[in-house]
Amino acid sequence: MAVREIVVIEHPVLRRKAKKIVKITAEHRKLIEDMIETMREAPGVGLAAPQLAVGERLIVVEWADEPEHEDDPPKKKKLYVVINPEIVRASEEMVQGTEGCLSVPGWVGDVLRHEAVTVRGLNRHGEKIKIEADGWLARIFQHEIDHLDGVLYIDKLVSKESLRRVEAGTEEAGDLRAEAIG
Ligand code: ZN
Repeated sequence: MAVREIVVIEHPVLRRKAKKIVKITAEHRKLIEDMIETMREAPGVGLAAPQLAVGERLIVVEWADEPEHEDDPPKKKKLYVVINPEIVRASEEMVQGTEGCLSVPGWVGDVLRHEAVTVRGLNRHGEKIKIEADGWLARIFQHEIDHLDGVLYIDKLVSKESLRRVEAGTEEAGDLRAEAIG
């Protein structure tokens, strides 16, 4: 496994529609391992292949739901690897949240997302999977799948004014770590 460089906003691969994966190769398996390691090292809660300059439809997401009660122990993180992910159902309800992106370092902005989505795709063994996600997990999937269509969260801001700079080392920068989705 190796940490790869995350490309940032000027890179054209971030603006292209990524290609569907027809056959999962050894190269894809290596890419998946590298994506997981790069996401964890960043740190982020998701990563899309175009962020590593690979124009193919593949995402990784790792997230633990908030415990139901404040005193409960933290829930275990769950790792999702999804090849050719597709949102097949989305709730009518939309929720606003503050997002950052590892490919747009130093900024956060407010975006409306579906509160819940159903994602279909393939796992790393090529088996069909279906994921029901709500809350922040649903937001992560929408953010990552947008990356596969060349869309960045800054295209979807509730207002231009909601985009704000976050200086490294400040308290808000600390929060940003949780908000930098991937
Ligand atoms: Zn992103």
